[in-house]
Amino acid sequence: MDIRIGHGFDVHALADGLRLVLCGVEIPHTKGCVAHSDGDVAIHAICDSLLGALALGDIGKLFPDSDPKYKGIDSMKLLQVVIDIVRSKGYKISNVDCTIAMQRPKLRPHIDTMRERLSVTLGIDVDRVSVKATTTEHLGFEGREEGVSATAVTLLVRD
Ligand code: MG
Repeated sequence: MDIRIGHGFDVHALADGLRLVLCGVEIPHTKGCVAHSDGDVAIHAICDSLLGALALGDIGKLFPDSDPKYKGIDSMKLLQVVIDIVRSKGYKISNVDCTIAMQRPKLRPHIDTMRERLSVTLGIDVDRVSVKATTTEHLGFEGREEGVSATAVTLLVRD
């Protein structure tokens, strides 16, 4: 059995009046992520973890932000493309673990919906999809509510 691990990390700035979309779920808030796409920082980290496991570069290489066709795109669609690539290489996703760091709002009420959305696109059981949220205790850009960061780790297996 061939086992691959991948890590992803992403950051987006926050600005007033934009939509906040995390793991495909729109979160009611006064600020949202500044981005060429819908700014789903968590999905971007997950995409990079999948690509990283197979040493295929990153989503910036796959979906350049200079390309107008990705303007405002639903990041779940980008994730689907990445998953198709992973499958085409013969790998299955074993599990995904993602952590989102932002000071406000509280993400806990949305976590299970995020996990369910991701599990549908990832094609794995929800108990293999972990989404966690943390504040940074008011420290750094996340703590000052200037931005959001997300990390993700993915395990892929090929029989
Ligand atoms: Mg991004």
